[in-house]
Amino acid sequence: MSKTKFAKEQKRKKKRETIKKNKIKHLSHLRQMILKFDELEEVRCEAVDLDSDYKKIIQDLEKAISVTKNGIGLAAPQIGQNKRIIIIRPDLKTNAMQSFVNPRISEISQDTTVMKEGCLSYPGYFAKVIRSIEIKVEHDFNGIKKEDSFKGIEARIIQHEIDHLNGKCDVGEEYKKSKIYNF
Ligand SMILES: [Zn+2]
Repeated sequence: MSKTKFAKEQKRKKKRETIKKNKIKHLSHLRQMILKFDELEEVRCEAVDLDSDYKKIIQDLEKAISVTKNGIGLAAPQIGQNKRIIIIRPDLKTNAMQSFVNPRISEISQDTTVMKEGCLSYPGYFAKVIRSIEIKVEHDFNGIKKEDSFKGIEARIIQHEIDHLNGKCDVGEEYKKSKIYNF
């Protein structure tokens, strides 16, 4: 290997390392976007003004959830935006996401199930929560009111995320209880 070739190789290696370092920095920045434990402000969120730049919030939610291993839903207050926006990612294999602006449950089934839920803002904590099996959700889709039906896991995630918009989180309640017991 000639001297110039060696220098070139070193330069390339350094560049690769910088790219890797920046990527790690970027990923950790995205991971830090989700507010954890006491950082999360539990308040009733404001309705989204459809003339505002709310699509930026949707993009940020998508970025924040995409770097989590098993996040299946996220609400805007969890990234510090107290606006009525949620996203769901029910199938981790396809990674498909659906966002809802100003979601409102317009119909809810009497049939319920109990399941253990986790929350990206309270890692390591779980709560058994009763949820309706089927719901109808009214939301603003590109400025038009739309109503969609959901059942099973999708219905459960949407109910969990809408709770966040109303300043409520059952998993957060478990976390708070554990803090009292640890006194
Ligand atoms: Zn949650």
